[in-house]
Amino acid sequence: MYVDSHCHLSFPELTARLDDIRADMAAASVDRALCICTTLEEFDQVHALATRHDNFWASVGVHPDNENVQEPSVDDLVTLAARPRVVAIGETGLDYYRLNGRTIADMAWQRERFRVHIRAGRITRKPLVIHTRSASEDTLAVLREEGAGESTGVFHCFTETMEVARVALDLGFMISFSGIITFKTAVDLREVARYVPLDRCLIETDSPYLAPVPFRGKTNTPAFVPYVAKQIAEIKNVSQEEVAEQTSRNFEILFGVAKLSEASHEEVR
Ligand SMILES: [Zn+2]
Ligand SMILES: [Zn+2]
Repeated sequence: MYVDSHCHLSFPELTARLDDIRADMAAASVDRALCICTTLEEFDQVHALATRHDNFWASVGVHPDNENVQEPSVDDLVTLAARPRVVAIGETGLDYYRLNGRTIADMAWQRERFRVHIRAGRITRKPLVIHTRSASEDTLAVLREEGAGESTGVFHCFTETMEVARVALDLGFMISFSGIITFKTAVDLREVARYVPLDRCLIETDSPYLAPVPFRGKTNTPAFVPYVAKQIAEIKNVSQEEVAEQTSRNFEILFGVAKLSEASHEEVR
């Protein structure tokens, strides 16, 4: 059984065919998924996925790329995080990939938004789901300034260097790999995956984006997460079952999520 630790099932292209996706997940032995929130406006939809289906959970947060959306306060996040089945704060972090003519100094609003999430994570004691792109130095610096030692979480869809992985692991975070790890050009990233201990790894799809090989370019769904596990198994020279089992345990530990009972397995199918 596999867990997709990061997907966007509230996005229209996936929500529209949720029944089919759930059937595909069951057929692919993907028994659980964490539905990630990217705006406060979207939260109710993400949360509804988790309250309607006992094998989905939800996060609350505002993605660093989202502008012209409601800016969350610490209170907003803490209040929504107290709702049932909300197990994480995020996705949050920094993304300097699309500066659109701005300088890094101009992105102070992103850093402030990230601090708000970290503070909410510390108050609620819920793990952070961290998105970092072209901004790893500042991401780590902000985490440290906000007392990262008291936070837990995961660096999701990891595409950074071995050195960034090392620091993230030292801070106590897990590292999550997506379908990118199957891409032909991701040679360095596969070396990072070799380096990260299996008991600190998660797997994810980040669907609808980033479908793994052999589905690259197609719409991704949580049913494809076994391809990420397969790649990690090859890199680490262990069985795919071991990767499935260990990443599922890691997910349960990090997010405080219990194993599904046999009864709810039946319901999933
Ligand atoms: Zn992300
Ligand atoms: Zn995401």
